[in-house]
Amino acid sequence: MKDLLVNYMNNQRKNILKKCTQCGLCIKKCPIIKNTKLKNITPQNIQKEVIKFLKEGIPNETVYNRGFSCMECFGCVDACCPQGLDPMLINDMIKWDYRRNNLIESKYTDPKDKNSLHRIISSTQINKEDYDKLLTFSPSSKADYVFFPGCNVYFQPEKLLNALDILDLIGKDLAFVPGLDFCCGESHIGAGAIKEADSISRKLIDKLSSYTPKTVIFWCPTCLCRFEKTLTFAVDIPFKMISFPEFVAENIDSLSFKKEINKTVTLHEACKSAFTGLDLNGARNILKKLPGVSLVEMPRHGKNTSCCGSGAVTFFKESFDTVRKERMNEAAETKAELLVDVCHYCHEVFIDREQKYNYSVVNYVSLIAEALGIEREDKFKKYKQMNDVDKILDDAKDYIEQSTFSNDNIIEALKTIVE
Ligand code: SF4
Ligand code: SF4
Ligand code: SF4
Repeated sequence: MKDLLVNYMNNQRKNILKKCTQCGLCIKKCPIIKNTKLKNITPQNIQKEVIKFLKEGIPNETVYNRGFSCMECFGCVDACCPQGLDPMLINDMIKWDYRRNNLIESKYTDPKDKNSLHRIISSTQINKEDYDKLLTFSPSSKADYVFFPGCNVYFQPEKLLNALDILDLIGKDLAFVPGLDFCCGESHIGAGAIKEADSISRKLIDKLSSYTPKTVIFWCPTCLCRFEKTLTFAVDIPFKMISFPEFVAENIDSLSFKKEINKTVTLHEACKSAFTGLDLNGARNILKKLPGVSLVEMPRHGKNTSCCGSGAVTFFKESFDTVRKERMNEAAETKAELLVDVCHYCHEVFIDREQKYNYSVVNYVSLIAEALGIEREDKFKKYKQMNDVDKILDDAKDYIEQSTFSNDNIIEALKTIVE
């Protein structure tokens, strides 16, 4: 069966053209609009241009700004449109049309590439044994659960090692399908490469299904949302899905904590998990069970949470900066000692500005690991904050000696993580 996602998108396009009343509600509710030039145009007029573009394919600045400023926060996917349409999918269609009509060159890093940044950056933070572990599939056999980490967490491999240790301690019948060779296709969708996303996502679904699991556990909030809110309508998916935080929260009583954290924390949840309701309380319930953790909520939390802005970083950097700053200031107002994030993307953008605030930024999985007595340094944060390739090379020399990548490749890759 070919082109299932492409067919789905084509059918949705017809549906949108038939049903969209151009009321503009989806644009009115979109949090990025006020940080772009679109703030000076009425939502109805923006949508009028968008629909005209979907029909006639003639590009203009308004359509570009609407499609490419989308942070893919999934905030408008459910229950925003009175006609039951998915407005985020309209933005995916704009990007698709721009790409296939050569109106823009939108690139993505292919994690499958043997010299992908994911692999090289990962190899500078962990030893060879751990690196190989993160790329080794469980032997083919039946398993109740499959754990799939996605691709981008490989930039921050200590989180994935912590997650695997936690799953070992929980002790369910579980298989591991590494990311990189397999991917959910989200980066391709975000770059408008729908045909590529179609085949990539179906290869992943086939691989996950080969273990005949009842449930697949997703590390990455974006993978889970893309599966539940797009792919599931296009492709038959023969398993249930759950987020890693929800799974850990459900099994937390099987973990024996050894260390008191003794900190006040505030939580930046993965916005899309909360907006879609796919995981409203997983990380929150974990924090409530960690010894010595006192949770202070930000005004915007739960269904009313905020995005970190990272989805707009490539095309709308200034808008992204504003969204991030608002969120980090909101965290500062709670006077918490730690800002705990869930998604590795949020982590990446928050650690870049951590030194401007009186709190530390930590990922929830690192905090669980710490409470369990597992010690692993957040090397990605350390390297980002060093912001100097020579210093990173010096700190990483023991790992680089074991890395199979050339020095030139490593230096070029490290340049991409310094500002
Ligand atoms: S997904 Fe988020 S950023 Fe994108 S259009 Fe919807 S609300 Fe706006
Ligand atoms: S809310 Fe729905 S009907 Fe209104 S403009 Fe957006 S997509 Fe069209
Ligand atoms: S990084 Fe986190 S908060 Fe930002 S868009 Fe992704 S899931 Fe949402």
